[in-house]
Amino acid sequence: MFSIDIQYVKGVGPKRAELFSKLGIDSVGALLQFYPRAYIDLQQTLPLSQAPFDAPCAVLGRVVRKLPPARLGGGKTLYKLLATDFTQDFAVVFWQNRFPYESLKEGQDYLFYGKFGGTLTQREINSPLFLPEGERRDLLPVYPLTKGLTSKAVATAVENALAAYGEEIPDPLPAPVQAEYQLCRAGYAVKNIHRPETAQAAQTARRRLIFEELLVLQLGLGSLKKKGREHTDLQIPAADLGPFLQALPYSLTGAQLRCIGEIGGDMAGAVPMNRLLQGDVGSGKTVVAAAAVYRAAQAGVQSALMAPTEILAAQHHRTLEELLRPLGLTVALLTGSMKAAEKRAVLAGLQDGSTDLVVGTHALLGEAVSFAELGLVITDEQHRFGVNQRGALGDKGRAPHVLVMSATPIPRTLALIIYGDLDISVLDEKPAGRREIETFAVGYGRYQRALNFAEKQIAAGHQVYVVCPLIEEGESELESVSAVRDQMAAYLPHRRIGLLHGKMKAREKEAVMAAFSAGELDALCSTTVVEVGVDVPNANLMMIHNADRFGLSALHQLRGRVGRSDCQSYCILLSKSGGEGARKRLQAMCESSDGFALANLDLEMRGPGDFFGAAQHGLPQLKIADLLTDRTTLAETSAVARQLLDEDATLRRWPLLRQAVGRLFSSISENGFN
Ligand code: ADP
Ligand code: MG
Repeated sequence: MFSIDIQYVKGVGPKRAELFSKLGIDSVGALLQFYPRAYIDLQQTLPLSQAPFDAPCAVLGRVVRKLPPARLGGGKTLYKLLATDFTQDFAVVFWQNRFPYESLKEGQDYLFYGKFGGTLTQREINSPLFLPEGERRDLLPVYPLTKGLTSKAVATAVENALAAYGEEIPDPLPAPVQAEYQLCRAGYAVKNIHRPETAQAAQTARRRLIFEELLVLQLGLGSLKKKGREHTDLQIPAADLGPFLQALPYSLTGAQLRCIGEIGGDMAGAVPMNRLLQGDVGSGKTVVAAAAVYRAAQAGVQSALMAPTEILAAQHHRTLEELLRPLGLTVALLTGSMKAAEKRAVLAGLQDGSTDLVVGTHALLGEAVSFAELGLVITDEQHRFGVNQRGALGDKGRAPHVLVMSATPIPRTLALIIYGDLDISVLDEKPAGRREIETFAVGYGRYQRALNFAEKQIAAGHQVYVVCPLIEEGESELESVSAVRDQMAAYLPHRRIGLLHGKMKAREKEAVMAAFSAGELDALCSTTVVEVGVDVPNANLMMIHNADRFGLSALHQLRGRVGRSDCQSYCILLSKSGGEGARKRLQAMCESSDGFALANLDLEMRGPGDFFGAAQHGLPQLKIADLLTDRTTLAETSAVARQLLDEDATLRRWPLLRQAVGRLFSSISENGFN
């Protein structure tokens, strides 16, 4: 019943159906899940004389007279009515829309809602929402507006759908759960979220719908976790890490040793590891991964590490080869842009088991890739991969151990949801000797001085990153980064200044990165392709153009490209004077170097909708729940999900609930890469 095409809803013609489908609403079920953003309290009516000019409000009025439709140029028609609030007349205007004009009756009273413009003596309202006075409900739903679809159009479609289906709405929530948490029935909830009789009813409906949505989310994540929890016979015994530790050019931090221990413990178990390694930028995640690879190789099984971009894959390959080759391990690189012959050689090494570790991009997921014995799968910067892809690489082995590395610091409670299927290790300590990165937010008036400062760093033997988003509206990223590079080259003609952007071929990008890494370039002007993961310890200045255009987490990631050695590092945030929000963000950057604190602030300022946009983590888009503000419900549903899955992981007793989980997770986009 719920998959009924939206076109069958009364009043939704093909044109409107198309608009709805742009919002992903193609069925009655989806329409009923297009929830109001707020309600207008119609008890709060104003006399016209008090109606503001710049904000909507409700006014009670009587239609006095319909004026004849006026045909204007361009085939447009204006429908106008005269009305009165009994003290003052006003005009009601509809452009090109005969239907409301005809449905309004002379001599009848209506509640008009909208922005009352016009002049002080002749007020006028354009395309208002209106309700006949007798039929008045107190709360009028307001739907998110999109092009071509007004809140009113949505409300009408929803009303018609509700009228057709009444309370015959299937209820996926198990009755015992409803009873225990005092939740209303689905039919009541759907009706009252759209046309509540009272504010209390709307609240009751909301609570139930939020509960349902979060429960379905947690069931989905929970069953992912169960799936990964089969038995494995790849029990990797603790190896002597002595040779590995001795070969390192530094000694590990306490946090690194602790995480290596936690990972080792998992790998020795009969259940495959499924662990998230979280650590702020520069906390040294790579070497922790290397220790796990070393351990796997000692047990004679292979490892694979997947990175989101070719640059990162190439860099990990270099770093890990440096760490592991002296210890006798064979490390290979596999990316999409490699020549066929090179690829074949790598694939052969994986198949015959002579390669211990392969580092690559999602090319590793290719059909031709097979392993002699894949025992450990690592993904870096996990938030760039979709939830669905998390398991894909693991399918190339027999229940291999899985390690996920993420540099997006998020509060633990939220990490538990987003990575609900993973155990978590946290690198909460930076390598010794690191100094705070001195951070300055400056206007373009001081650009010259910033360039002089860059010159000073280069003269002292350091290297400099320059990152540009768009400089001018309408300009391409490429144009703007090239312009910045040329300008800088003109100012510092004796310096070697490289250029890196997303339009370059993978090979060219790699060559530039390698040159920068080897110290053959003094400065690197780039788009945000250097955003995550790149590691060149000798670079000590990060200059960010139009820094006000970035979110806090992105700025922190970018800044994390420097401060990777024991010399003093700097970050210069250039911006034109921006809005209040931007100013606050830049200020926070100057004051804090704690990724977790900044992430929390980012969450507060941007709201979880943006922070947890599907592109960030691959979770399905939520329709009504809010991961931040609905934390109590989150905890409740988490307990219920665990209980239901423990009873029966396939949810056979609750087919409607199982269907809901299936629907939610099939809607996750497959292209989690960005
Ligand atoms: P991230 O956690 O951001 O991925 P990396 O693994 O890239 O960090 O490490 C950052 C830098 O710190 C690298 O240059 C690495 O060699 C260095 N490093 C890692 N661990 C230590 C340590 N214990 N002592 C000193 N330097 C370290
Ligand atoms: Mg990294």
